[in-house]
Amino acid sequence: MTRLRSRICLFFIMPFAFTVLSLQAQTAPIINLEVDATQAPQNIIHSRMSMPVSPGPLTLCYPKWIPGEHAPDGPIVDLTGLKLSADGQTIPWRRDLLDMFAFHVNVPAGVRTLEVSFDYVEPSATSGFTAGASTTEKLAVISWNQNLLYPAGHLAEDLVYKATLKLPAGWKFGTALPVANQNGDVVEFRPASLNRLVDSPVISGQYFRVVDVTPPGEPIHHEIDMAADSEAALDMSPALQQDYTNLVAETGKLFGARHYRDYHFLLTLSNHVAQFGLEHHESDDSRVNEVSLIDPQQRELMAFLLPHEFVHSWNGKFRRPKDLSPPYYEAPMKTDMLWVYEGLTEYLGDLLAARSGLWTPEQYRQSLALTSAALGPGRPGRTWRPLQDTTDAAQSLYFAPAEWTNWRRGVDFYDEGVLLWLEVNMIINQQTHGKKSLDDFCRLFYGGPNKGPQLKPYTFQELVDVLNQIAPYPWADFFHKRLDSTSSEAPLGGIEASGWKVVYTDVEPPLLKASEQVHDSMNAAYSIGLLLKDDGTIEDSIVTMPAYKAGIAPGMKLVAVNGRSFTPEVLRAALKAGKDTSQPLRLLVLNDDYYKTYDVDYHGGERYPHVVRESGRRDLLDQILKPLASR
Ligand SMILES: [Zn+2]
Repeated sequence: MTRLRSRICLFFIMPFAFTVLSLQAQTAPIINLEVDATQAPQNIIHSRMSMPVSPGPLTLCYPKWIPGEHAPDGPIVDLTGLKLSADGQTIPWRRDLLDMFAFHVNVPAGVRTLEVSFDYVEPSATSGFTAGASTTEKLAVISWNQNLLYPAGHLAEDLVYKATLKLPAGWKFGTALPVANQNGDVVEFRPASLNRLVDSPVISGQYFRVVDVTPPGEPIHHEIDMAADSEAALDMSPALQQDYTNLVAETGKLFGARHYRDYHFLLTLSNHVAQFGLEHHESDDSRVNEVSLIDPQQRELMAFLLPHEFVHSWNGKFRRPKDLSPPYYEAPMKTDMLWVYEGLTEYLGDLLAARSGLWTPEQYRQSLALTSAALGPGRPGRTWRPLQDTTDAAQSLYFAPAEWTNWRRGVDFYDEGVLLWLEVNMIINQQTHGKKSLDDFCRLFYGGPNKGPQLKPYTFQELVDVLNQIAPYPWADFFHKRLDSTSSEAPLGGIEASGWKVVYTDVEPPLLKASEQVHDSMNAAYSIGLLLKDDGTIEDSIVTMPAYKAGIAPGMKLVAVNGRSFTPEVLRAALKAGKDTSQPLRLLVLNDDYYKTYDVDYHGGERYPHVVRESGRRDLLDQILKPLASR
């Protein structure tokens, strides 16, 4: 993407850092912010700000480094119509030549209040996280960072915003941001610090539903706020509502503490917005297909999503690596500990999906098998880029194309985190003779009194120290070994220690089948080494695997298999038939404007990963998947 500006920005950041230190003792101004979302269906949001200022030079910034996205991907290109004025007079501005997110102003003598107005134009592209499409005819997700500027020289926690939001007539809304007043379609929020505001998006829509998921006896309120492109899409079943209530109860047992005032799952159901999940301290911003609650396959595929984002309230928001906790949005993040921030969250999110009933143990194991297989063997990217570099380079890897992912590697610290932290759990189990587990670490590391949305940063050494309190072990050596490894093998020690192993058979796991059907794709990665779309477009060709060796690359299009027009079923049948013949698989491929036939010498049939019991070993996996509420 276009976000490779961090090195340039460093030059600009240093004076900022100095200014912040010298100014932080001063009282920060209260800024009035009016966001008009009445034209959300037309994909344009209007902002007006009224900001106390002093005469002289002033720098206004548009948030650049977006928390949770771990990248300088604030959508600066979509800020339009910027006008500054005071007492009815236009005041000129000039963009910084090194930092595209900063605007310099000279405030004239006598001016005490600066008026700022601009529009945020909503993109239609459904990629790019919060900077992607966020409005439809029927709903809108408002990420405040897109609709405000802030004066440089203050910590985000010191600046106070008094925000109002005007919605399209009759639309309802959900947010963790406390409301002061509502007058028709205008919502006035209680004054909040800039970091709290940016951390509290609003979802809104014509079709809107709130579901209470507070478990009995739980003093803190939890709800799921849903906006959808149709009324029918909001039909969450009572059973699913119970699973999410279980999820809230299970986190209470797992962490033993909460660090928020109340919690809002913000769930957007639309095929016309960017689809992802983004964590916040007192809410999340999860966006999935319109029918995700009512279609069983889609429900199975999104089961891990809300648990993942919810875990982030503890791991990522309350406890966050120091390197990922800059004090304002112009300051760069260092992403070297995302293997904890994201990796451990992925592990715990999957676990909680199983413990709360969103996944059966069998579905959890299918997911575990697919995760393991996606990391190796046969994934060559591991041989040059260690896990550590996938996290160090995350700010660019999040925006890398799908093609050649197997050789480039992507942000697979999520996937490897599942294996890594399962292994940590198993080591704790072994070292303490079954007396302790990673759950004990969670209670110690994420516990403490609830002071609301508080940030408590940590370092690698602090993480290791707390693990040592649970189970003494050379944790630093262990992590460095995993982080620096360039082995082509995935680290499967945790699966094996839990009494299971990864095997390959010709039976396709239902979870993979669901994924293929929902994403119109086909996974032949473990046989000939291809990932394809249903129309034959090759998304990836795994280096060292048979199709790659024959000359096939991502971006080409598979047209025919053994002379017959390609469909996923035709390729599957040919893979199966290839077991009984010495003839190669003959693939007709379109490369740009030219057709070419490739002979792929492969006779292993269809291959899919599964985790199966290792005889003679205790089943610890089954044990850790059991709900804590039932123990
Ligand atoms: Zn995450």
